[in-house]
Amino acid sequence: LLVSVLALAKTYTVGTSADFPPFEYIENGQFVGFDMDLIREIAKIAGFEVKFVDMSFDSLIPALRAGQIDIAIAGMTITEERKQVVDFSIPYWTADQSVIVKADSNLSITVLFGKYRIGVQTGTTGDLWCTEELVKKGILPEKNLKRYDTFVLALTDLLNGNIDAIVLDSPVANRFAATKPVKIVGIIVTGEQYGIAVKKGNTDLLKAINEALKVLQETGKLAELIDKYF
Ligand code: GLN
Repeated sequence: LLVSVLALAKTYTVGTSADFPPFEYIENGQFVGFDMDLIREIAKIAGFEVKFVDMSFDSLIPALRAGQIDIAIAGMTITEERKQVVDFSIPYWTADQSVIVKADSNLSITVLFGKYRIGVQTGTTGDLWCTEELVKKGILPEKNLKRYDTFVLALTDLLNGNIDAIVLDSPVANRFAATKPVKIVGIIVTGEQYGIAVKKGNTDLLKAINEALKVLQETGKLAELIDKYF
């Protein structure tokens, strides 16, 4: 009888795309960053364990749908399109898009308008914005929009001169501008909000995540995490 009440805490598999500092990145072989601490704190409150798996950003939603992961946390913007296929927590962050170029470049925001090569991470809201607002409107030729699995690859190509600019989330652009030889030349105000995603219909887990998020807000723990990473 005693054994049955000593059930082990459930372990959830958390998918992320660990190339997005300061939200998620790998340091000394560990998953670190704001999102990583956030989900660990949520797990503590809700009483579950987490195990992280790293994948490309555009694999996260398919992995959730296939049941390969239980939770996706990756600075993921809550969009109408994604809401059709997964469920999101209450928002925990607001961001815009930024345009970065090499630090020694004299290109400006007009880098977006025509002959230059723009890099994005596949399937992100940066990709979506460039596709909808530049490619589909005939401003940027499709061949000049280069899609990458990770920002690490996009940054390498930017620094090598294989592309001229990258469009990415503003908090991450700020971090790259502070730590790499790149600079921000423009901001595209999108006001997008990040949420934690679960498989559609996983209401118990979503409820537990939302309740824990509220506790973290109320206790000041969330503010502490923001101070730690920003
Ligand atoms: N917030 C953006 C999106 O959801 C980018 C996220 C990311 O690259 N990790 O598409």
